Amino acid sequence: MGRNQVELLVLYHDIQSMLLDAKQEEDCMGFTMEGEEKLKEAMQEVERKIETRYLRTFERLKTRYSHPIVPVQDGTCLGCFSRLPTSYNERGRNEQEVFTCENCGRLLYWVA
Ligand SMILES: [Zn+2]
Repeated sequence: MGRNQVELLVLYHDIQSMLLDAKQEEDCMGFTMEGEEKLKEAMQEVERKIETRYLRTFERLKTRYSHPIVPVQDGTCLGCFSRLPTSYNERGRNEQEVFTCENCGRLLYWVA
């Protein structure tokens, strides 16, 4: 069993943020080119495992939000703080892998 799509998307976003940091740090010699290459490799590997439709959603959201994928706490989207529908409960989550917030459209992952 591989990781699920949501985990991969979180990972993908993490590596992308690290790459951005690396680019900024490069100017002050804090980060090596080698390190950047490693991050790019990791990012491409994750990218290959994510379904194209989710990648598209993610890329689209990224143009709007700095955090395109956000946690859910107590049934609330932590991106816009609106309540999520009750169909986003545990049972619903067994049937569907990836959810987006109906209000802000961000991808969601559950804290617990
Ligand atoms: Zn939201």
